[in-house]
Amino acid sequence: MGPEDLAPLFPIELIMQEVTTERYVDIPEPVLEVYRQYRSSPLIRARAWEKKLGTPAHIYVKYEGVSPAGSHKVNTAVPQVYYNSLHGIRRLTTETGAGQWGTALAYASALFGVECEVWQVGASFDTKPQRRTLIEVFGGTVHRSPSQLTESGKAFPADHPGSLGIAISEAVEVAAQADDTKYALGSVLNHVLLHQTVIGEEALLQLAKAGEGAPDVVIGCAGGGSNFAGLSFPFLRENLVNGAGTRIVAVEPASCPTITRGEYRYDFGDTAGMTPLMKMYTLGHDFVPSPIHAGGLRYHGMAPLVSHAVHEGLIDAVALEQLECFEVGVEFARTQGIVPAPESAHALAQARREALEAKEAGDERVIVVGLSGHGLLELGAYESYLAGHLTDDALSEDALAASLAGVPAV
Ligand SMILES: *Cc1c(COP(=O)(O)O)cnc(C)c1O
Repeated sequence: MGPEDLAPLFPIELIMQEVTTERYVDIPEPVLEVYRQYRSSPLIRARAWEKKLGTPAHIYVKYEGVSPAGSHKVNTAVPQVYYNSLHGIRRLTTETGAGQWGTALAYASALFGVECEVWQVGASFDTKPQRRTLIEVFGGTVHRSPSQLTESGKAFPADHPGSLGIAISEAVEVAAQADDTKYALGSVLNHVLLHQTVIGEEALLQLAKAGEGAPDVVIGCAGGGSNFAGLSFPFLRENLVNGAGTRIVAVEPASCPTITRGEYRYDFGDTAGMTPLMKMYTLGHDFVPSPIHAGGLRYHGMAPLVSHAVHEGLIDAVALEQLECFEVGVEFARTQGIVPAPESAHALAQARREALEAKEAGDERVIVVGLSGHGLLELGAYESYLAGHLTDDALSEDALAASLAGVPAV
């Protein structure tokens, strides 16, 4: 695949970032100007939570919920819209799961005078109407996916719960058909992960300021892999280049266990098979995850860069059930005062396991955990949890085998 294969979808600057071998890429000044509205994001020592857990561990939380859309997604939405705006692009299409990415792209689009059209996964569209309103407040348009507006959408019944894979097919289809329209992806691709490394670069400087050396463990939740890589890859660099011995752990939901139970092979990024094939951990592009509340973690694939690092044994992965994650989310809210997004609660749950292990072993390990966003628009999920309506929902072997059977032979 060469740059020209991606040209219908992305501006040239992003395509070149997709294939760059440079270690650093400068952030353009107009992007820095927007970042200054909410960055640096805080690195918080979670002392009240440490006390509650009775752990000698030092828990540092890198909090991306301070961004205008409430998550790390703004970090890539801004440069993506900026580069598109340089080429006179009138409209951007995209998909969104829980709605975080659609919100971030709508906000960034408003800043640079670009229209933003969002296909939202049906299950989230139905259960999170406030997300849609927020996207509309920022000037975006929202369609329930699968929609009747695209061939990819028409292949499914209108009441289908949808998936990120289907929504991606719809947004890509529309962008590929119009010259003045391009597509923006909120995760998975190399350029997205690159933009997110601002998180980890800041965290390294903040940790040094706090007088800590290399952390013992860095933890992030992984849906498509962008906040996880954004936080952890600068630490991975310290491991590879400077011999730091930091353990790096990706956390995924047991209902969508891409890294821990998927296969490492070529697959499509979307359901209709319109994207290039990517070598990655995958559950199969037909996979429709159960409608858990961590909507941002419901994706069948994983960023090729994260997949590669896992395959090389450079990072570890675990899959957790949602009840434990919500329990930790509530505990974190009651101690630190921040209601984490259900996705982020997965990372916090693994951090708690580490902190309790440290208590057992009596060591002062340093834990850095990515808090990718706040959950103030996910209160319906917390309501279900508090009412006792949530259940665990690990993926069955049969369902896994069925969806892996659809991965193309390459
Ligand atoms: C989208 C989202 C995620 C998952 O996406 P990644 O690309 O894996 O980071 C995690 N947390 C929040 C708050 C999100 O909005």
